[in-house]
Amino acid sequence: MFFIVILFITGCGSSPTHDITKDADGDRIKVYTTFYPLYDFTKKIAKDRADVSMLVPAGVEPHDYEPSSKQMSEIYSQQLFIYLGEAMEPWGAKIADQLAQKGIATVELGKGLIKDNDPHLWLDPNLAREMAHRIYEALSEVDDANASFYSNNYEELSQKLIELDRFYADSLKDVTNRSIVTSHAAFGYMASRYKFNQISISGITPFHEPSPKKKAEQIEICKSNDIKYIFFEPLSSPKIAEALAKEIGAQTLVLDPIGSLTAEQIKSGEDYFSLMRKNLDNLVKAMN
Ligand SMILES: [Zn+2]
Repeated sequence: MFFIVILFITGCGSSPTHDITKDADGDRIKVYTTFYPLYDFTKKIAKDRADVSMLVPAGVEPHDYEPSSKQMSEIYSQQLFIYLGEAMEPWGAKIADQLAQKGIATVELGKGLIKDNDPHLWLDPNLAREMAHRIYEALSEVDDANASFYSNNYEELSQKLIELDRFYADSLKDVTNRSIVTSHAAFGYMASRYKFNQISISGITPFHEPSPKKKAEQIEICKSNDIKYIFFEPLSSPKIAEALAKEIGAQTLVLDPIGSLTAEQIKSGEDYFSLMRKNLDNLVKAMN
């Protein structure tokens, strides 16, 4: 410990013009986000001016994730806690009041936006923009010294989301088959924005395998909708999708709900925008 302190002091002394250690954590606010899209948008607005953490680890399904007691105490040491709402983090909704009492700012991004307990707002770029705006407002309130920096970054992000929305609308405008089959029902907001029909194999969370009766129904629905591709997700097993595809003579394709990135996706520099564009490529393929 003593040794480390000496090194630290020597390190500072040797570079008097630029104090790296202060820049690194000095006045930066600490922000805790729950899962990937919230983290990604927050990072894009805060950049290096805030210390942004994410609860759900890489490669872990965000649905029903519960924080460990260590993570819970980390949340209590932040200036700002960003979560989506009860549909995704029921525990977050429970602690929000308590955090507020302790002077920690909280923001519920899905407030007033979530319908039918479906948390997947971020998959509609237009709703993603509303989420980003709420993140920007919260950051500016907690850290008003950097408000104009956050404002500029939000504008940039907002512009990219508007472009993404237009790109989706244009690309999906004239597709021939407006029905898709997904594993869990993550694409409801997207489907309603771009006017297509989502048929899901499991429900709103990805864990339920359908009953034999449900399976028989799905086969019929796929056949009557002339389905050529069954979508599966990077984080869950493709087995159910493959079985259904085999049954109806279809192929499988990835459609990523972007709730959590795999370690490989992070390593190869993917983010919300790159994955949304890959999703669009596969949607267009499946709908033509
Ligand atoms: Zn989901």
